[in-house]
Amino acid sequence: MENTKCHFCGKEEFEERHVEYVYRRDGKYLIIRNVPCEVCLSCGERYYPAEALLAIEKRFKAIHEKHELPQQTVKVPIEAFAAK
Ligand SMILES: [Zn+2]
Repeated sequence: MENTKCHFCGKEEFEERHVEYVYRRDGKYLIIRNVPCEVCLSCGERYYPAEALLAIEKRFKAIHEKHELPQQTVKVPIEAFAAK
């Protein structure tokens, strides 16, 4: 991917990394590991290649419509924040 300037901070230094991406739609989730992206070294904003996002969306649909099985499923606890 060719990023010249970060949309958020305007800096121009990026690093290629592989990260964990949490895709969420209509209250459903898919966590995808090892997604390639470029990270702004100044503010940390991540930029994903369009083809990676399309692939993730396709996989999300296939898994939630039960055409495909995920590699792993985990239970995730959810809580509302309450100051103690
Ligand atoms: Zn930035």
